[in-house]
Amino acid sequence: MDEIEPLRQKMDVLTMEMARLLLARTRVATDIGTLKKETGRDITDETREFQLRQKILGLCEQEGLVDDRESGEYDVVTRFLNFLLNESVRIQQQQQQSTATGAAATHLSVFHRAQELERAGRSIIHMEVGEPDFMPPAATGRALTDAYTNGYTRYGPARGRPEFRQALAAYASGKFGAQVSADNIMVSPGGRFAVFAAVTTLLNPTDEMIVIEPAWPAYRDCAMHAGIKVRTIHTTLEDGWTPSTTEIAKLVNSHTRMIVLNYPNNPTGKVLTKGTMDTIMSLAAEHGLYVLSDEIYSEYAGKNSGWQSVLSYGYDRGIAIQSFSKSHAMTGFRIGYAVADAQIIDRMAALGALCLTSTSEPIQYAAMKALEEDVSGNADMIARRLDVLMQHAHSMNMEFMEPDGGMYIFARIRRDDDRFDGTAFSESALEGEGVAVAPGAGFGSYRDFIRISACNDAKILIKGMNSLKGMLYGGHI
Ligand code: PMP
Repeated sequence: MDEIEPLRQKMDVLTMEMARLLLARTRVATDIGTLKKETGRDITDETREFQLRQKILGLCEQEGLVDDRESGEYDVVTRFLNFLLNESVRIQQQQQQSTATGAAATHLSVFHRAQELERAGRSIIHMEVGEPDFMPPAATGRALTDAYTNGYTRYGPARGRPEFRQALAAYASGKFGAQVSADNIMVSPGGRFAVFAAVTTLLNPTDEMIVIEPAWPAYRDCAMHAGIKVRTIHTTLEDGWTPSTTEIAKLVNSHTRMIVLNYPNNPTGKVLTKGTMDTIMSLAAEHGLYVLSDEIYSEYAGKNSGWQSVLSYGYDRGIAIQSFSKSHAMTGFRIGYAVADAQIIDRMAALGALCLTSTSEPIQYAAMKALEEDVSGNADMIARRLDVLMQHAHSMNMEFMEPDGGMYIFARIRRDDDRFDGTAFSESALEGEGVAVAPGAGFGSYRDFIRISACNDAKILIKGMNSLKGMLYGGHI
């Protein structure tokens, strides 16, 4: 008999057993998910995952496996664990969505519901999204017609038109304290795609990525989509939203490939101190981690905030994400770009070629013209509006950190019975008062927070805040 046959039979038995166990595990994950939903607990729990990880490492040790990168013996087990942990998260996320009472979970779901209400004739005050109410620079309007005459009407290179990348490189070199050339730039339809491209082309399934919460939800969503394991650093209002670098160091292991930074932060408006940033950057260098720095709010960094771009470190694994959405109020143009080492850009651009062929030429032309405009007035205007929001939020006993930059305040609302639920609150604010705010739960474990955006005229913001005040103190919730 062929000697491979008994081994194959053994393989079949083991694989069947694993599939059976996987199905049993899926049922347990679902039961846990139901309990979490009922008791309002968060889906991910780093402490719990850490304990399970330790048990698995213990098992590897008992089995006499060697913990080194070359043999990869531990590696296969811990990668499998990451797959299993992600599966639990995926199952429980689906559960949360399917059993939701229609309660909005993220700023985007509130926004979409608000638009639905508007289509039905309701008038809505939008304080849920970071979409500037002011117009893009007038030059972009003219550029859209000029783009036609100037022949920006074709397919082009996946990474963007050479002259636009040249202009972006010159701009980035001047602005971010870096040596940037056109080879370091990939143009993309918005910062969002650039984030997706970086996460999915630089990391492999079951690799780990560190996200500091509260965070824009897309980092986690991109990672989950690609089977990458997200490890979370929770930060608090009490600590001024400063991530503990000791905690970050503790999370790093041989599977960690990337840390995501977003400063000025959405939703808190935090900017890291130079000391914290330096420590994170040296940790990244020590472990060869990519640093994905989403800097799309950099134009809105406060004058004394000390904000600095990841590019200023000259780190070859640093990737800066930029966009015209916030700085130039060009959300609907869908235009942004990534700045990184040329090899990283090559990998990201290959995905761009696959998914997009190229970014719209007329839009690239309009953005190239926008780059020549002075938009500093936008930041001054948002800063003044944030002041107005803060005054009102203080008078309503909301607890928040004065933002170092950005367009939002991220505020905690305390109730005497300690049962404030930002998701239910944002739902009733929208349905009842026509005021849209973002629930804190969309940014991580922050149920008692809401994010209020300063993207409206002060008068409208005051009206919106007064409605919220009525709800909070008029006994609606
Ligand atoms: N990063 C952050 C932190 C954001 O808040 C947003 C949009 N709200 C984006 C990226 C994406 O922006 P865009 O795709 O419009 O450039």
